[in-house]
Amino acid sequence: MSTRPRILVVEDEPAIADTIVYALSTDGFDVQWVATGSEALAALDKQPCALAILDVGLPDINGFDLFKRVSAQHPGLPAIFLTARSAEIDRVVGLELGADDYVAKPFSPRELVARVRAVLRRLTKPAPRPAATSAAFIIDDERKTIRYRGVALELPRIEYRLLKVLIERPGRVFSRDELMSRAWDDPGASFDRTVDTHIKSLRAKLRAIAPDDDPIQTHRGLGYSLRET
Ligand code: CA
Repeated sequence: MSTRPRILVVEDEPAIADTIVYALSTDGFDVQWVATGSEALAALDKQPCALAILDVGLPDINGFDLFKRVSAQHPGLPAIFLTARSAEIDRVVGLELGADDYVAKPFSPRELVARVRAVLRRLTKPAPRPAATSAAFIIDDERKTIRYRGVALELPRIEYRLLKVLIERPGRVFSRDELMSRAWDDPGASFDRTVDTHIKSLRAKLRAIAPDDDPIQTHRGLGYSLRET
């Protein structure tokens, strides 16, 4: 069994895929290549991976929709998009997809490998605990409550889930889509604004305990995160 980080490459152009697979393999990754979205979903069901590289222009589904489906099944799976047009880059940056990075074609394989390493490094950073902000929160999963600076918060289920998602990954920016898919039972039934409404309510509750602190950060056009320190 390999202990090398496993990367899933979803790219329908064999020449490009070959270059990526070669570059990642020689750099110490365990790489699986698939050419379509449906193969990607099947591959992920069989075996988890550390990161997915998703071409935006795939034959059976576009990379954005694929990412949504992948994220629904494997929340938090880091992804890097491969984009061919500037219009696609605009979507990656503007549409709050929550992808970790993107690389525009044509790209150098070295560059892509460096991005992969950077994303993985960012994610494996000594996670939650040491950060001052997250230390201020204590999640009691059994009672479905969260204590903030020692005070138990009164949270409806959605707000409990929302805050928990943020606390568990301080510094990570979550798009509204991501927050919704993680906190709502039926994300399709809600509108984007509802995330904002619940965040507003959460902030009010935190402020009631510590008026000078606002640990939930807004990232314009991107989403929300919990402050890291
Ligand atoms: Ca393509």
